[in-house]
Amino acid sequence: MSTVFDFRGAPGSGWSQPEPIRHDSIESIPKSMRRKQLPSWPRASEPELVRHYTGLSQRNFGIDTGFYPLGSCTMKHNPRLNERIVQLPGIDRIHPLQSDSQVQGLLAIYYEMQEMLSICAGMDSVTLQPVAGAQGEFTAIRCIQEYHREQGQGNRDKVIVPDSAHGTNPASASMCGYEIIEIPSGKDGRLDIDALRSAVGSDTAAMMITNPSTLGLFEIEISEAARIVHEAGGQMYYDGANFNAIIGKTDPGLMGFDAVHYNLHKTFSQPHGGGGPGSGPIGVKAHLSKFLPTPIASRRPTQEGDPVGVGDGHWYFWEDVGENSIGKVQQWNGNAGAVVRAWAFYRRYGRDLERMSEHAVLNSNYLRHKIMNPSPEVAEGIHCMPAEGAASDVVMHEFTLSMSPLKELNGVTGKDVAKRLLDYGYMSPTLYFPQIVPECLMIEPTETESKEVLDKFASDFHSILSEDPDTVTSAPHTTPVSRVDEVWAARNLVLRHPGQDPGK
Ligand SMILES: *Cc1c(COP(=O)(O)O)cnc(C)c1O
Repeated sequence: MSTVFDFRGAPGSGWSQPEPIRHDSIESIPKSMRRKQLPSWPRASEPELVRHYTGLSQRNFGIDTGFYPLGSCTMKHNPRLNERIVQLPGIDRIHPLQSDSQVQGLLAIYYEMQEMLSICAGMDSVTLQPVAGAQGEFTAIRCIQEYHREQGQGNRDKVIVPDSAHGTNPASASMCGYEIIEIPSGKDGRLDIDALRSAVGSDTAAMMITNPSTLGLFEIEISEAARIVHEAGGQMYYDGANFNAIIGKTDPGLMGFDAVHYNLHKTFSQPHGGGGPGSGPIGVKAHLSKFLPTPIASRRPTQEGDPVGVGDGHWYFWEDVGENSIGKVQQWNGNAGAVVRAWAFYRRYGRDLERMSEHAVLNSNYLRHKIMNPSPEVAEGIHCMPAEGAASDVVMHEFTLSMSPLKELNGVTGKDVAKRLLDYGYMSPTLYFPQIVPECLMIEPTETESKEVLDKFASDFHSILSEDPDTVTSAPHTTPVSRVDEVWAARNLVLRHPGQDPGK
């Protein structure tokens, strides 16, 4: 239980506040900006404060507390080794304003990460500046926009997005001023190549697509799609959120893409969720390189007179991208801590990243098979189905289930099942996305879960399907907050902390 604090507004909390500003200097602060009354900080002793935060942490669910099959988000285990590395004083204690000569180590890591990311995606240059996949999308689409303008093709004003795309794709393109053309998926859940053919034209700026798709299906006609878009003069953008499924096996460059983003916090492990901190580098083919945000990490052979660097015969430095750069998209040079953790992860695996993808795909197929083929004793209770058309397919790193049959049978929805899973100690899978699958649950086990965890999850999943519908539709029952009344919450918005002064 977390403590309920006394908010009477006197100083003297569990730690000492800085001295108040001396009275004689208060005059230098404009009257309108001075406090009229004491702030209502909580009064709490140190043990109370510690219990409060520990209590809050226990109310939360994380990858460290249980299985987290949140499709599309790749919630894998974060190796603790990476935390040790990012806390080394040479990384943890530096400031972005230090000169190149004082941060040779970090610059070398940045440089190496740019190179490694270029290689695994088949791109020519990489920037580590964007701090989220969505920001990477925006950055890359801006580069594509500048490219078209330079070619005298600034009139291209449409971006094509399949209906299975993540919402950030159309949002990013729209922030760059593009109109979105959504194309429907084919019967088998994959990209409809004929729909693409009729959507492209002299107004096509780009197509944004992820492969495998959010349905967990590999787009087998991706090269043909790239050919069609390129022939129309458009550019191909790869949403790299599902890179965990293919790394080392194939790459977006081979598929015909011109630009990609990487979600370092997904593919390369990283504590994430709750909005950050993340890292969404982008990679581009040579013709887009000069538009990248500036600066990027660079190196040259050491020369006479260089201060001692990292000792690999190179001098590392921040290099200005040049006058065509779209400028900066983030203060400093992105989330250095996230980059270093992901670099440590990448370095640890090296070429074995291929095994990582194999295991992610194996785990996903295994779990899907387990769920779809229950033992005879529970066969009665299985009332879900794979996404339409995808029944006979082998899936990639994630898969979707439609809970429509269960809903028809007894009124239990996908949302109810997702909530009930919380009672069993699991994070809910991604719910109602992609929207093209009715009553959708999207499950991504990742490579870091054991067979035992997957077996137990499948068996608990089956138990839920045969439970009394009233138990499931009123779940969760064991969490600190039970089922919330969303309609009531939407109509009675409370956006203020109880300790906050009313009316502010
Ligand atoms: C997570 C995700 C994104 C956006 O990445 P963020 O880092 O969350 O901004 C884009 N596309 C897909 C398919 C994703 O799963």
